[in-house]
Amino acid sequence: MTKTFDHGGGVWSVAVPIPDNPLGHTLVYVVDTDRGPVLVDTGWDDPGSWDTLAAGLIACGTSVQEVRGVVITHHHPDHHGLSGRVREASGAWVAMHAADAAVVRRTREARPERWVGYMSAKLAAAGAPEDHLTPLRSPRALPRLSPALPDREIVPGDLLDLPGRRLRAVWTPGHTPGHVCLHLEEEHPSGLPGHGRLFSGDHLLPEITPHIGLYEDPDDGVVTDPLGDYLDSLERVGRLVPAEVLPAHQYAFTDASGRVRELLAHHEERLGGLLGLLAVPLTPWELAERMSWNRPWSEIPHASRNIAVSEAEAHLRRMVKQGRVEPVSGTEPVTYVRSG
Ligand SMILES: [Zn+2]
Ligand SMILES: [Zn+2]
Repeated sequence: MTKTFDHGGGVWSVAVPIPDNPLGHTLVYVVDTDRGPVLVDTGWDDPGSWDTLAAGLIACGTSVQEVRGVVITHHHPDHHGLSGRVREASGAWVAMHAADAAVVRRTREARPERWVGYMSAKLAAAGAPEDHLTPLRSPRALPRLSPALPDREIVPGDLLDLPGRRLRAVWTPGHTPGHVCLHLEEEHPSGLPGHGRLFSGDHLLPEITPHIGLYEDPDDGVVTDPLGDYLDSLERVGRLVPAEVLPAHQYAFTDASGRVRELLAHHEERLGGLLGLLAVPLTPWELAERMSWNRPWSEIPHASRNIAVSEAEAHLRRMVKQGRVEPVSGTEPVTYVRSG
């Protein structure tokens, strides 16, 4: 069954399913313009998801063939998966921030063996035990991903090419290096107080916090601070004071500033908890084992443990940068401990 919703003022959403995923669906937004609809995100690349998107666009009074452009909040497959198919069917342009376009290019070019080598070296350096590394090293068929290369760049601060509308790009790195929110700078159709509406992607969601890990890049030597980026980005969207937030998962909500404050408090509390754990020196892996997740560590599957360690490392980066934590010199794999 296709679920569409009319948000008013020439904006609709289509709930496009993500197969076998607890998130359930991606909300693909349809923004009417003077020259045909523009989509914000496209959804997961799966035949059923494609059919839902196509049927949803018809329910919104248009069709895939009429799509004029696609604006991607970030490169993740539940957002960018169907962009190639939409472009093939319609000739639409696909726009993305340069930092995420670089991730797409790398994904298309990377040899799976190189990626596996990079990941196992990184996990070993984080203190992952041998039994976690062994399955990574054993040869197996790896899926070769080929996400669509965007043909336009989303430039932070610029208005996008949506005739008759004012949609401005707000760069919100953190969840990915090139994540953007899109600010529809028009009065709210129901007159809700605040400044327009914000398509928030995965950056600001009503009930869940997005995953913040390291920006994985085998070629990049720069020490990034994704959690620091994310917290700065949260404050940036809070200052926009949108009347309503239109996120890519769950549901639309108001009081963006309240949600931003909640998330900032949540992260501060989490960092405080980690500082407590770091009274004794721990590797990133050991820290991940001790952090609280949505289930006990023993029940977290192999692939999710990689994501958990990446999240632990992002928190360590942040605390090292703040001077609250420091690496213990001469340890291998490196351990971290509370400063002072
Ligand atoms: Zn995402
Ligand atoms: Zn997502």
